[in-house]
Amino acid sequence: MKIIAGNWKMNGTRTGLETMVRDLSSVETENTVILCVPFTMLGVKSDCVALGAQDVSRHTHGAYTGEVSAQMVADTGAKYVIVGHSERRQYHHETNSIVRDKASNALANGLIPIICVGETMDEKQAGKTMAVIESGVRESVPSDVNTDIIIAYEPRWAIGAGLTPTAAEIADAHALIAKTLADMGLAGTPVLYGASVKGNNAAEIMSIPNVDGVLVGGASLKSDDFIPIITSVK
Ligand code: PEP
Repeated sequence: MKIIAGNWKMNGTRTGLETMVRDLSSVETENTVILCVPFTMLGVKSDCVALGAQDVSRHTHGAYTGEVSAQMVADTGAKYVIVGHSERRQYHHETNSIVRDKASNALANGLIPIICVGETMDEKQAGKTMAVIESGVRESVPSDVNTDIIIAYEPRWAIGAGLTPTAAEIADAHALIAKTLADMGLAGTPVLYGASVKGNNAAEIMSIPNVDGVLVGGASLKSDDFIPIITSVK
């Protein structure tokens, strides 16, 4: 059983999500299917797919105009929230410490945070991939975790670019993350791979050791693209 999570980013409508949920309802799978959608679409009825947000405030409540708290996300019935996505880190200068606060708020409100880590192209070229991944996990995961979290390894240079690391690079990254989580007392935490996953590479990626599922951006927007990923593995 794998976890197949979609990230709609700033795309879609409530009607589009309802259509997607209808399309997914006829898919036979034992995999866990999650769709992380814009805040405005949370609350759409979705029996066959769990909904999540794509971000949450690092603050709990109060005078933070435009922000949405973890409590508010949980109040919609959502179960998950992505924190530390590379686009948040890049465009909103989110650091590991901010991501950790967001993950803590999510956990305090019963949400499962999908905590993203991954290296930029500059970091990759400077030979820092493994160091960035390890510090990303150690610094972004709250210290007092005693419940479910999910980690997503997303090489930032590959997201939305149609590029993927080699299978050996993915295997090395996931082995390091699994070892780091075990060191932190979090053995068994699911680790997803994300960046340019499509129907034609999903099965191969999910056959790599320590890859417990995928986080899918562009190819989660249309059921014709998303369903083949969901059904590519048992
Ligand atoms: C993402 O944004 O999390 C992502 C993996 O995007 P894409 O699949 O489009 O590369």
